[in-house]
Amino acid sequence: MAEQDAQGEIVREVHLKISPQYANIAVVPKEGEKSDKNFPHNLHNAAELFLRVGIVDNAEKLKVATDKMISIYAENPNGSTGMRIGDACVCWNCGFCGIPQIIDEKSIDEKVPGPCFECGEKEQINWLRIKQKQGTNFATMPWIEVAPLSEEEAEKKKDAEIAAKRAEVEARVKQVLAARAAPESSK
Ligand SMILES: [Zn+2]
Repeated sequence: MAEQDAQGEIVREVHLKISPQYANIAVVPKEGEKSDKNFPHNLHNAAELFLRVGIVDNAEKLKVATDKMISIYAENPNGSTGMRIGDACVCWNCGFCGIPQIIDEKSIDEKVPGPCFECGEKEQINWLRIKQKQGTNFATMPWIEVAPLSEEEAEKKKDAEIAAKRAEVEARVKQVLAARAAPESSK
């Protein structure tokens, strides 16, 4: 919903339905952030922070990515084909939450989060830790997300879409030709 305020600016009325589970997804502070009182400790705080400073797009991106992860868990993935499982990050630059870009396996450093899968951010980014209550303890769960298509797969998908479009056009042309070829008397 949008409404016009006195200055004529669009004021977006934001209703983000944040699952209580967001509070169980901890944002892991980096060295030097541990003593920061304003550090957002979990994704609930992170979403609030984005909204407080008016970066609604980031709050929405955070929510879309996190809700996807929560719903994948709710659907109980078993074979996990086409899924990526691992440690995720929250990116303060764009709001994306998910498994970061993996440049190569050897470059993964537990202490250094990122780079953000969406925007490549390396600095303003933190690891996330999903905690799930199991009895009286909290277990750490991995992040799970639908694997993005590889370049080759994306290319294949594009080719298939083009082929489908072409087949559709050809079918229409055939129809037109058939109609033209129909005897005059049938008109
Ligand atoms: Zn980002």
